[in-house]
Amino acid sequence: MEKVVIIGSGCAGLTAALYTARANLRPLVLTGRQPGGLLTTTSIVENYPGFPEGIDGYELMTRLQKQAERFGARVKFACVEAVDLSRQPFSLTVDGEPLAAETIIIASGASHRHLGLESEHELENKGVTYCATCDGALPLFRNQPLVVVGGGDSACEEAMYLTRFGSIVYLVHRRDTLRASKIMAERTLAHPKIKPIWDSVVTEVLDVKQDKVTGVRLKNVKTNAGSVVACAGVFVAIGHVPNTQLFKGVIRMDESGYIIPKQGTATNVPGVFVAGDCADRVYRQAVTAAGLGCAAAIEAERYLAAKNA
Ligand code: NAP
Repeated sequence: MEKVVIIGSGCAGLTAALYTARANLRPLVLTGRQPGGLLTTTSIVENYPGFPEGIDGYELMTRLQKQAERFGARVKFACVEAVDLSRQPFSLTVDGEPLAAETIIIASGASHRHLGLESEHELENKGVTYCATCDGALPLFRNQPLVVVGGGDSACEEAMYLTRFGSIVYLVHRRDTLRASKIMAERTLAHPKIKPIWDSVVTEVLDVKQDKVTGVRLKNVKTNAGSVVACAGVFVAIGHVPNTQLFKGVIRMDESGYIIPKQGTATNVPGVFVAGDCADRVYRQAVTAAGLGCAAAIEAERYLAAKNA
């Protein structure tokens, strides 16, 4: 039986692994489909303390994994399919195999939100993408007009990154001010290759019939006027949804699926703790996720000590 199983391998999960490993609990980290989490898809992380020049997101997560492994954490590429938290030890189904755990730290993060358009779905990976750093350099986007949807830090980051490849980058936002942090917003709007399109939403990605992206149909939400912008790629960066479906009905969460801790990082189920973006709709930073991963690890350690005393 495992003492600590950590679901998720982003900043929260791997920091929890580092701390529980140093407490000699030999944690088992189940990575999920995206080892290293969403940060691995970021180019440069400029706001993680201790890296004055910034650090590549993939490198940061690789280093964090190595650091946790150095103290005995085991990181396994695996997906949790089901959990039964109704009795101790907890039981999980991991890639078809049963697994028993005394404590669980949920650090399952969040996934990219989709626009919810049929055409978006049809053209996913045919010009519609959710990650500029992963796909921006593909030949089909080179020297072509590109569209980024969103007004937050992610959208700004994606737009800035895409200026390396596209001929022009349209930033389509549903309001007339960016939500992004001031520094990111100013940098983005000052870039000569980025052209904001305010107060607008994408109503259709063109062209499903051609089986590739040729443009977007837009609607101005203030005037209701429609327009078409030609482009070869659509990069959707409109936020995230928490990866908490597994725990619905068992772990307390809000209407959007963010887990609501009972106290600190403890959930309503004793022995189950939570950390990171799956429980954070406010800060959602790498450093806050790491901090909560640390807190969850300390609380899991104390829970085990009290239980086994
Ligand atoms: P976000 O801050 O939640 O922004 C999402 C954006 O998408 C908002 O501008 C929102 O519009 C828009 N949006 C949401 N749903 C939409 C829809 N259905 N259709 C059209 N537009 C929609 O998400 P994020 O940019 O991914 O950032 C998440 C967190 O990570 C934030 O805390 C951010 O600071 C952080 N982050 C930081 C960095 C960095 O510091 N370098 C980089 C990336 C992310 P409204 O503004 O109208 O709500």
